[in-house]
Amino acid sequence: MVDYTLKEIISAKDIQNRVKELARDIEEDYRNREVSEVIFVGILKGAFIFLADLLRNLNLPAKVDFMRISTYGLNTVSSEEIKITKDIELDIRDKHVLLVEDIVDTGYSLKWVVDYLLTKKPASLKVCVFIDKKERRRCAVEVDYVGFTVEQGFLVGYGLDYSEKYRHLPGIYEVCFSGVRT
Ligand code: 5GP
Ligand code: MG
Ligand code: MG
Repeated sequence: MVDYTLKEIISAKDIQNRVKELARDIEEDYRNREVSEVIFVGILKGAFIFLADLLRNLNLPAKVDFMRISTYGLNTVSSEEIKITKDIELDIRDKHVLLVEDIVDTGYSLKWVVDYLLTKKPASLKVCVFIDKKERRRCAVEVDYVGFTVEQGFLVGYGLDYSEKYRHLPGIYEVCFSGVRT
């Protein structure tokens, strides 16, 4: 059994403030480009709370869709082998799409999803991630909006899980492993 504790690194209040700022930036950018409708595509499951909070803070005509991809399963290691387990259902051809993701770590999964969505020929595709683990990037991928930049650590809360736990927490916590018991 693995022992660990959770250490808060971003409070619920800081998250709510930052999401409001992000929503303002997004709204302003799309308005300046005279885009009349945006399709938000959230990556399940991690981005569901972030996407909901963003939308509630935006005053922009929006549609919502989701996709889900699988890596190796429930472990914490990102994989380079990716499959779609739920595709988007809206037709995004010639539409303005904002992809909403929880975390970009190595960048492999985000890059893969961006390339996939581009094959559907949207009018534009922008990317918004809640957390950018910049230091760990191994694959170049352009991110247009970032909530927070975090250097390292395995994070949970605000939609992010550890073996499906802790998604409900309103803040972001680092999982601190304190030792291994057998
Ligand atoms: P990447 O392909 O960028 O390495 O992996 C990104 C995906 O791995 C994220 O979308 C997320 O689902 C998962 N991931 C990466 N880092 C973390 C983390 O600190 N906590 C959690 N819960 N998931 C993470
Ligand atoms: Mg994810
Ligand atoms: Mg996960």
